[in-house]
Amino acid sequence: MALDLLVVYAAPMVGVWAAYVAARKHREFKSVAKLSAAKEAGLLEPASLHPIIDPALCIGCGSCVRACPEGDILGLIGGKASLVEPSHCIGHGACKAVCPVNAITLVFGTETRGIDIPNVNEQFQTNVPGIFIAGELGGMGLVRNAIEQGRQAIDSVRKTRDLGKPDMLDVVIVGCGPAGLSASLAAMHHKLRFVTLEQDSLGGTVAHFPRGKLVMTAPFTLPLAGKFNFRELSKEQLISFFMSIVNKTKLKVNIGERVDAVIQLNNGFEVKTDRNSYKTRAILLAIGRRGTPRKLDVPGEEQSKVVYRLIDPEQYKGQHVLVVGGGDAALEAACSVADEPGTTVTLSHRSESFNRAKPKNRERVEATERAGRLNVVLNSSVKRIGEHDVEIDAKGKLSTIPNDAIIVCVGGILPTAFLKSMGIEVETKYGTA
Ligand SMILES: Cc1cc2nc3c(=O)[nH]c(=O)nc-3n(C[C@H](O)[C@H](O)[C@H](O)COP(=O)(O)OP(=O)(O)OC[C@H]3O[C@@H](n4cnc5c(N)ncnc54)[C@H](O)[C@@H]3O)c2cc1C
Ligand code: SF4
Repeated sequence: MALDLLVVYAAPMVGVWAAYVAARKHREFKSVAKLSAAKEAGLLEPASLHPIIDPALCIGCGSCVRACPEGDILGLIGGKASLVEPSHCIGHGACKAVCPVNAITLVFGTETRGIDIPNVNEQFQTNVPGIFIAGELGGMGLVRNAIEQGRQAIDSVRKTRDLGKPDMLDVVIVGCGPAGLSASLAAMHHKLRFVTLEQDSLGGTVAHFPRGKLVMTAPFTLPLAGKFNFRELSKEQLISFFMSIVNKTKLKVNIGERVDAVIQLNNGFEVKTDRNSYKTRAILLAIGRRGTPRKLDVPGEEQSKVVYRLIDPEQYKGQHVLVVGGGDAALEAACSVADEPGTTVTLSHRSESFNRAKPKNRERVEATERAGRLNVVLNSSVKRIGEHDVEIDAKGKLSTIPNDAIIVCVGGILPTAFLKSMGIEVETKYGTA
């Protein structure tokens, strides 16, 4: 009788337990595979703020794994939480918030790769009086934080001496991502005399998220526009929301204007761009951390058909496209465009191999080339960009090919040098808060 009862009650429990253990083992197996792939591809460095987990404290509850809005960035390995896709971590910090035993610390940089964070005080002012920083550049990522900081930084800018005098602008806002947009609306609200300069497109990093990416955010307040309770929306919805606010408020943003240098004057600054120069009492840098895309510096590069990252492969349907570069971004761009019907795609790289790219992308390039949809030209460089063609030098042999569009993916210039050129102090963090 007792044995019967044991079978009736214990057997299902054992079944449930076995299923739980099997599922956990399966997840652990996936986590180990992800971590190995990241190691193999050399993608072990998180871009910015990220968690480190103290294995002595971690009890392996998995709350952090489930809490991460980006999906499987964390995993459980050997019963302890581990960052299994470090390069995909964008610093939400949701993992730290849910950990029941405080096993997680959020830090910048790693032992092997430092992250440069500018020194900024609580008023968002740098060590150079009159130069302010808001958003991800200052170390605080995420859309909502950038929006909040942009608005708050303008409150500090308003305390700058001699604002309102007609000889200069009050503030030049550099960058129009979430931080720069919010700062510009705040400047407009407070009737400051300002200009907003954006080298690329409205929305900053958000505009470059992959198509359809879900943006996880928290409610925020935009000056002149009000409070918004967004929590989860697509990248496209967020960009059109930003556009609608710009249209409604008639905010003027100088799109496609890049700031190249800042010169200190007696009573303010001169901001030099690739088109113009502005005298201003204060500067708000809301330039994020992605840096400025490196250019080819060849004749014809100023044409609008030359872009520095792939947004939507579909737009190249039926076109002759040249992709320049040898890293993952270039390889992914070349293959995605080659997958579009009717495209003729050439991938030009200055070295003799794609050894910096992930094996998965190298294999994809080989397969696309074998299928006759991609022409790879190694040891080559672009010499001249014409309206309907492009001239390429491959091992000293010049050839001109038809061309409708060029995607240049040759890396970026990080903001540190730019900051230092203005005298702003930066601290390199190696895995510290
Ligand atoms: C793949 C990915 C996914 C993400 N997902 C999320 C998410 O789901 N939720 C979330 O909250 N956050 C997410 N983030 C983080 C978020 O995008 C950033 O924290 C946020 O965009 C920072 O805003 P920002 O205004 O400080 O900088 P940015 O958005 O980077 O904007 C800076 C702007 O400055 C411009 N600029 C730079 N240099 C110059 C110059 N010299 N002259 C003129 N203009 C210049 C740039 O072109 C850019 O437009 C994600 C980030 C990445 C990379
Ligand atoms: S939430 Fe904390 S205790 Fe739970 S797995 Fe993550 S780090 Fe470990």
